[in-house]
Amino acid sequence: MFKKVLIANRGEIAVRIIYALREMGLESVAVYSDADENALHVQLADYSVKIGPPPPRESYLHYHRVIAAAEVSGAEAIHPGYGFLAENAEFARLVRDHGLVFIGPPPEAIEDMGDKAKAKESMKRAGVPVVPGSDGPLADLDQAREVAEKAGYPVLLKAVAGGGGRGMRIVREPGELEKQFQSAGAEAESAFGDGRLYLEKLILRPRHIEVQVLADSHGNIVYLGERECSIQRRHQKLIEESPSPVVSPETRKLLGESAVRGASAIGYVSAGTVEFIMDQEGNFYFIEMNTRVQVEHPVTEMVTGVDIIKEQIRIAAGEKLSMRQEDVVLRGHAIEARINAEDPVRDFAPSPGTIKALHKPGGPGIRVDSHIYQGYKVPPYYDSLLAKLIAHGSDRNEAIARMLRALEEFVIEGVPTTIPFHHVVISSEEFRRGDFDTGFLERFDYKAKLSEL
Ligand code: ADP
Repeated sequence: MFKKVLIANRGEIAVRIIYALREMGLESVAVYSDADENALHVQLADYSVKIGPPPPRESYLHYHRVIAAAEVSGAEAIHPGYGFLAENAEFARLVRDHGLVFIGPPPEAIEDMGDKAKAKESMKRAGVPVVPGSDGPLADLDQAREVAEKAGYPVLLKAVAGGGGRGMRIVREPGELEKQFQSAGAEAESAFGDGRLYLEKLILRPRHIEVQVLADSHGNIVYLGERECSIQRRHQKLIEESPSPVVSPETRKLLGESAVRGASAIGYVSAGTVEFIMDQEGNFYFIEMNTRVQVEHPVTEMVTGVDIIKEQIRIAAGEKLSMRQEDVVLRGHAIEARINAEDPVRDFAPSPGTIKALHKPGGPGIRVDSHIYQGYKVPPYYDSLLAKLIAHGSDRNEAIARMLRALEEFVIEGVPTTIPFHHVVISSEEFRRGDFDTGFLERFDYKAKLSEL
């Protein structure tokens, strides 16, 4: 096992990783930018190294400064968290070349899953269901026309290098194809420097269902149930839960075994997430694999009792998984609400500022993963996540009741937050019934409900 681990990240996830290291008896090294001198992760870590100015490119994304910080502090491994360098194969390779351990998958797996057309092909070959559409990138408009006819309209054009929904276009009928093909390609080219597109049948009113997997370097692999993340705004997840209210034990097994088959086929090692969309009939299709720990990992931890970050660290140190599939038992239900420094009545405009007063909720079944404290200044340079509020209950109704009372107790003064938004959504009839899909927030008039408060 390592003695000292560097965390190449900031915010709540850096704090979360420091907690895991401390519980394992390992030392932690924080890195930070000029904007994060007073950040909680710096105060909590055993050691800290300042790596540069606030813009991520000059600090948290700067390969050489991060690696130099590991070398001067004597850390043997680097945990990238999520975002920043977590899915950067070049960085993972560089870490390895410097004789350090990257706490994540092999660079080859990051690369393979980063090309979405290639990822889909690998999954299809492994027998994982994929959305009907093109095999690999489209050569030209004629091929797009042919594939679209075969899949049946409406279809979706997607960027091979995609991410964050960019380069994605719905095509409702043949007459729209040419225009959308041009504009999606141009958008992908300017966003990713890669204009290649692929095409899929558009799944109507899909739900986003993802499977957490853990794989060690000895060929052992397990799935830790699913998470449902259908409450999204512009492809940004806002509320996640485990288990999904619509996944039956039989479907869970099919989903889990598909995810494991796919991950095994690409030689995956570490924690990873296989994402699917599910149609109204309960058919599920692979869309992408995230090769890192995810923001929403705590809901899985709450229902399985597995500490995903510790498992990731043990796997990177070459240890075997501490559980087999039959040891994974789901207990109760967990929901996570992402509390952002954003103003939900002003189109979720980011609203950095100083936390003037803070009271975090507690009591049975409540977990708060956060880096904020009273007097903390939320810097404008990074994402606006302030806290993740996680509620666990013996069933979904209890988890909802606990979430609502915790949202009512949670006080953050000084910046507008998404706390009232979460209360409105989670107390709605539709959410309580589990009756939603990824288009829910486009139809649900949360603004009117917020103004009633
Ligand atoms: P990105 O990497 O750009 O985020 P994804 O492939 O992960 O793209 O898709 C993002 C979201 O777009 C999904 O969560 C889902 O809501 C929607 N989506 C993707 N593929 C389809 C499809 N074939 N039909 C309907 N919706 C889709």
